[in-house]
Amino acid sequence: MMTSAFAPSEQSLVASPQDLPAVDVAIVGAGIVGLSLACALRNSGLAIALIEATPYRRENTKGQAYALHQVSRYFFEEIGVWDKLMPHVQPFEVVQLSDERFPLTVHFSPADLGTEALGYVGEHSAIAETLQSVLQSAGNVTFYCPWRVVTNEVHGDRAQLTLISGDPGEPKVAHLAARLVVAADGGKSPLRQQMGIEPKGWQYPQSCVVATLDVAHPQPVIAYERFWPTGPMGVLPLPRNRYRVVWTLPHPEAEAVAALDDRSFLATLQPYLDPQMAEITAVGDRFVFPAQFMQVNSYAADRFVVIGDAAHRCHPVGGQGLNLGLRDVWNLAQQILASPLEEIGDRRHLMHFHRQRWWQNVLTLAFTDFLNRLFSNTGWPLVAVRRCGLGLLCLLPPLKRLLLRFMAGLLLPLPGDREFPRGR
Ligand SMILES: Cc1cc2nc3c(=O)[nH]c(=O)nc-3n(C[C@H](O)[C@H](O)[C@H](O)COP(=O)(O)OP(=O)(O)OC[C@H]3O[C@@H](n4cnc5c(N)ncnc54)[C@H](O)[C@@H]3O)c2cc1C
Repeated sequence: MMTSAFAPSEQSLVASPQDLPAVDVAIVGAGIVGLSLACALRNSGLAIALIEATPYRRENTKGQAYALHQVSRYFFEEIGVWDKLMPHVQPFEVVQLSDERFPLTVHFSPADLGTEALGYVGEHSAIAETLQSVLQSAGNVTFYCPWRVVTNEVHGDRAQLTLISGDPGEPKVAHLAARLVVAADGGKSPLRQQMGIEPKGWQYPQSCVVATLDVAHPQPVIAYERFWPTGPMGVLPLPRNRYRVVWTLPHPEAEAVAALDDRSFLATLQPYLDPQMAEITAVGDRFVFPAQFMQVNSYAADRFVVIGDAAHRCHPVGGQGLNLGLRDVWNLAQQILASPLEEIGDRRHLMHFHRQRWWQNVLTLAFTDFLNRLFSNTGWPLVAVRRCGLGLLCLLPPLKRLLLRFMAGLLLPLPGDREFPRGR
């Protein structure tokens, strides 16, 4: 049976196969990127379908949390949801960058950026639930869940999706026509493959072990990025005296560390943490994510675009992946809102989107790759180069500010100045 968390639909009663009402934009995948696009287009007057294969459950989010950079805050402000997200995210005011046990730490502060915080950390569950609640009052967005998109065919000026209902009791097939299909269906993106869009990249020999740590008492809100020969380790402050650790290790070590019981995991982790951190009182479940570098050869095909992890994936160092995805959303939403209705999905516009996003994203993707290679390395020439680099960052504030602005997504021009419809 079809369910719609945002706008319960009587179409669920129609026998299969069924034709769902045609829409202007069909968004496939309701991860943070798909949800954000639906939020940006709410109250635009366009008919939007948001299709998600897996019903949202907190326990399925693998405890994921994301560092959101300033550019993502600006985007959420633009689409009118930041005030709702703000109570659920943890601002951080210091980032400490260091190399193994080398006694030189680069400190970044909001003064370097001219902002009140360097960034924000939000848990997947908190961000997803907030965006879903915003969509509840959006009359133009219909949520199809659990429905899996299996094919996409283009006929003239319409794309036609075929969907299968995920209701185990009563599997059904339906068709949905759209002017534009947006694949926000994650790194594996079956739709991308079907549309002939090629991912180019590689798997790193590393995985990231992630876990949440509870600490005994409130801490200064510091985010740590420390580089070890096995790979970078990020420790991000979360609301309610918790930290999120993202620990990069070679695959076998990552699997072994993640399988340890709580006490042994903590004993293994502790020497790598900053000694100033308060006592850790509890450690959450561990999850392992293989690290990957990927960008598609094209962001666009006929009546079709890819965004978010469906278009690019990078090493988690520097927390860039979702931030890039939100920038894709910002660009695309601006372009959709600026197009006359009959030109939504027009190839010229989509190729413009491709050109904009491809080169902007490749800069950040390449930088994360450079960082990971430079620091996950014990060869002395490279060790000397990177330690000199840290020294230069400490000695030359303009260089430090430049790096920070780049990592915060503020060096590149912000997408367009078209106002987003706010509605209710
Ligand atoms: C360890 C780790 C740490 C990270 N830390 C950060 C960070 O600090 N900051 C940051 O910016 N980024 C970070 N990232 C990257 C970030 O996790 C991703 O970029 C982001 O989650 C991608 O979101 P998405 O919505 O594009 O994809 P997803 O979250 O993968 O969502 C895709 C959705 O599509 C649905 N779907 C798939 N196929 C279909 C179909 N056929 N039909 C319908 N629905 C479908 C899926 O069920 C899913 O809900 C990190 C990544 C890792 C691995």
